[in-house]
Amino acid sequence: MRGLLVGRMQPFHRGHLQVIKRVLGEVDELIICIGSAQLSHSLRDPFTAGERVMMLTKALSENGIPASSYYIIPVQDIECNALWVAHIKMLTPPFDRVYSGNPLVQRLFSEDGYEVTSPPLFYRDRYSGTEVRRRMLDDGDWRSLLPDSVVEVIEEINGVERIKHLAKKEVSELV
Ligand code: NAD
Repeated sequence: MRGLLVGRMQPFHRGHLQVIKRVLGEVDELIICIGSAQLSHSLRDPFTAGERVMMLTKALSENGIPASSYYIIPVQDIECNALWVAHIKMLTPPFDRVYSGNPLVQRLFSEDGYEVTSPPLFYRDRYSGTEVRRRMLDDGDWRSLLPDSVVEVIEEINGVERIKHLAKKEVSELV
């Protein structure tokens, strides 16, 4: 049994990690698609697909999840939602089941005949990319929301400085 999970992972946080651990208890292999792979360097999507691959690879290794149990595949967005499932299928190994809490993702896969499961949310008020990025901008405690290895990646790439710089630029453009 092979499962599929799609997420922007901006950045990869402890909620994503909990979902992956849980889903790996139900499937033999998991395909993890990094969505919106073409986006980076914006306040909503600050990290490149390559940086997100690093975050995932290191966090899964840190948590003892064997590399033989998953595939990490960056996927760019496309204009047509109606063609998106075919686009995903073109880029991934075959899969039997889809895991997502995102209503659009659920809808598109279920209309294509896939069994779609909505995994329970873990502390969604804290474990969300929006909250992590907000805390980075406000000098809050963003580190506790992320696996330690993801904190290291963000420090290596000066991720917080990037977000703060982008926020400054966007403000000055409004003036
Ligand atoms: P996300 O990173 O917000 O979430 C990924 C998954 O993790 C979701 O299923 C979500 O429910 C789960 N999750 C998040 N926080 C959690 C928590 N605290 N506890 C448990 N689970 C948690 O990403 P997303 O927005 O779902 O990503 C969907 C991607 O698919 C986007 O990149 C989007 O652009 C892409 N997409 C593209 C098209 C297109 O190109 N036409 C169409 C549909 C979707």
